[in-house]
Amino acid sequence: DLQLDVARVRRDFPILDREVHGKPLVYLDNAATCQTPRQVIEVFDDYYRRYNANIHRGLHTLADEATAAFEGTRETVRAYLGAAESREIVFTRGTTEAINLVAGSWGRANLGPGDEVLISRLEHHSNIVPWQLLAGELGFTIKVIPVDERGVLDQTAYRDLIGERTRLVAVNHVSNALGTINPVGEMASLAHEHGALIMVDGAQAAPHQPIDVQALGVDFYAFSGHKVYGPTGVGVLYGRAELLEAMPPWQGGGEMIKTVSFETPTTFADIPHKFEAGTPAIAEVIALGRALEWVNEIGLELIQAWETRLLEHATEGVASIEGLRVLGTSPDKAAVLSFVVDGAHAQDIGLLIDQLGVAIRTGHHCAQPLLSHFGVEATCRASFAAYNTPEEIDVFVEGLGRVVNMLR
Ligand code: PMP
Repeated sequence: DLQLDVARVRRDFPILDREVHGKPLVYLDNAATCQTPRQVIEVFDDYYRRYNANIHRGLHTLADEATAAFEGTRETVRAYLGAAESREIVFTRGTTEAINLVAGSWGRANLGPGDEVLISRLEHHSNIVPWQLLAGELGFTIKVIPVDERGVLDQTAYRDLIGERTRLVAVNHVSNALGTINPVGEMASLAHEHGALIMVDGAQAAPHQPIDVQALGVDFYAFSGHKVYGPTGVGVLYGRAELLEAMPPWQGGGEMIKTVSFETPTTFADIPHKFEAGTPAIAEVIALGRALEWVNEIGLELIQAWETRLLEHATEGVASIEGLRVLGTSPDKAAVLSFVVDGAHAQDIGLLIDQLGVAIRTGHHCAQPLLSHFGVEATCRASFAAYNTPEEIDVFVEGLGRVVNMLR
């Protein structure tokens, strides 16, 4: 069967040639930000050298070319997510802004006292705090789906918590802190049976598995460019057309209007432009399109199979380290390995292993409620991408063993 050609994949990433503290870089912080292939980097050079111009407004060649490339990415994203129409794709600054858009537009228009929004203990702060801020203003209630000791969402509790007051279920597809993959398709069905909508934070799913928003039956889906081999500063909100159409504008400004007047009410552009006020991150959007094409050229199935192998290899490797506990043992898990070690602080491990050229993440991973469930304040997290190799994982495991011995 087909295998990912990792040597070939790695040749696309100039940064993987660099050294850190005199050692070859082993980059295992992909869940925070993953690296960009040269094809994506080249988009910026090409854009600023040849067709840098504002979109949708010019009647000149450069503006036309920039607009075509920008709108071309909308179609690429539509296909990537399996959405029905490209007008269901809104460009944002990232997942965080996409969630704030749903909260600020849909939430503000539809939520009030007596209503309930269901989130989960697995959420990133970006899918907690916007709801807390809005609940403080509008007086609705936030309810939290608990997780079990494996870091798996308690589906029985979900069934008990959802009810006729539930307006929205907002959960992630894959947990950034543990790697748990949530059954969002089934969760969507249950939400809809109760007349609620479901919004999925797909920041950690988009780089790792094929996504089909129509097959999943989700209403909103968000992800970030910089976690899917693209640039920072750009992300996506998918929303079903009829929902986006009914939602009020969120930010006001240029590009999102039809007519502006002091005498009659200002009118707004059609979707998706209604939600894209001001000049967007044009080069970044075009580069995101190239990143998704790059992923498609390799194939998400191959990437997923490769990363599963890396995760198994890493999980077996760290098992040899005494006093190490892996957090997140869901049978359905993406390429994230979160752990704590008796007698060694996560921060110290992170600092020392960096000296060996290995980049991992330490801290609360913007998921403090989840970590407190496990009784810890910080974990170490290694997270994998298509360009990582079993040999790099061996370097990481061996280095971790040395670092832990030093610290104890
Ligand atoms: N949700 C999840 C699950 C994430 O992993 C992240 C990024 N760590 C975010 C949301 C926020 O993404 P961004 O910072 O790109 O807006």
